[in-house]
Amino acid sequence: MQAMVAGRVMVVGGTHGNERNAPWLLEAWRRHPALLRSHGLGLELVLGNPAAYAAGVRYLERDLNRSFVPALLDAPGPGDRELRRARELLALHGPVGSAPCLVALDLHSTTAAMGSSLVVYGRRPADLALAAGLQQRLGLPIYLHEQDRAQTGYLVERWPCGLVVEVGPVPQGVVQATICRQSQLALEAALEVLAEARAGALRQPDRLVVHRHLGSLDLPRHDDGSPAAVVHPQRQGRDWQPIDAGDPLFLTAEGLTIPFHPQADQGDGPVWAVFINEAAYGEKGIALSLTRRECWPVEPAWGQALADLARDLQSPG
Ligand SMILES: [Zn+2]
Repeated sequence: MQAMVAGRVMVVGGTHGNERNAPWLLEAWRRHPALLRSHGLGLELVLGNPAAYAAGVRYLERDLNRSFVPALLDAPGPGDRELRRARELLALHGPVGSAPCLVALDLHSTTAAMGSSLVVYGRRPADLALAAGLQQRLGLPIYLHEQDRAQTGYLVERWPCGLVVEVGPVPQGVVQATICRQSQLALEAALEVLAEARAGALRQPDRLVVHRHLGSLDLPRHDDGSPAAVVHPQRQGRDWQPIDAGDPLFLTAEGLTIPFHPQADQGDGPVWAVFINEAAYGEKGIALSLTRRECWPVEPAWGQALADLARDLQSPG
């Protein structure tokens, strides 16, 4: 592995400006650093999108968490506000930034009933080792997002290692103590895994259970594009549960139930739903996403990749 400069762990909240639990925590930890168990790691606490946070909206011009597309970042011209913020974050805290970070932990909340969960993008070995360590400690479900050309440019992908913590359900704009508590527990467990890896003492579990992204479903729509149905009450809130062919999926205004039909390209076996009725995904044409639950043997090379990277993590100060 190529030698890297030393760096810290970047903890991001408010990448989406209307997800306010993590920013609340960041502010508390800035005032009282002892409230967060950092496991001896140097941290950068970063408000992801300050302008959107001030306005109380997810984003101003472009979803910041879809803006980290290399072709966009490298494009000539100043770009819109979120693109400028993405470049700024990389210049400050990218792996070769002025205050470099090697790991990005991006704390989000969702209106879907996801509980505490992790989102991993692709199959980078260090990410999988970190996710496996978190699952081992807290039993968190993992949404493995990959091969979706409509959804790219996630922040954590531009750091050598990183994942998203998603906690819900909580309405947009609302801070709830339980959501904050869950977010903090997941973050502290991630820092514990990184500290163990830095010390060369990472004990990996035997297996990793992932929910691999298959695709997403939109609401049925009228010819003018407006929704023709809502998520069925028997499906609402049932994230991380399997859907069988024929199960109620959507409900029209007239009271007609639209059942679930598996797609041929989704392969065999049950599919499991996540991010059911997430408020922010309406504009993306996503009523829910479908996954397949898979159990993978944990590879020693994952832990080695995380240890190689974590060796260069700095202590506070
Ligand atoms: Zn978010």
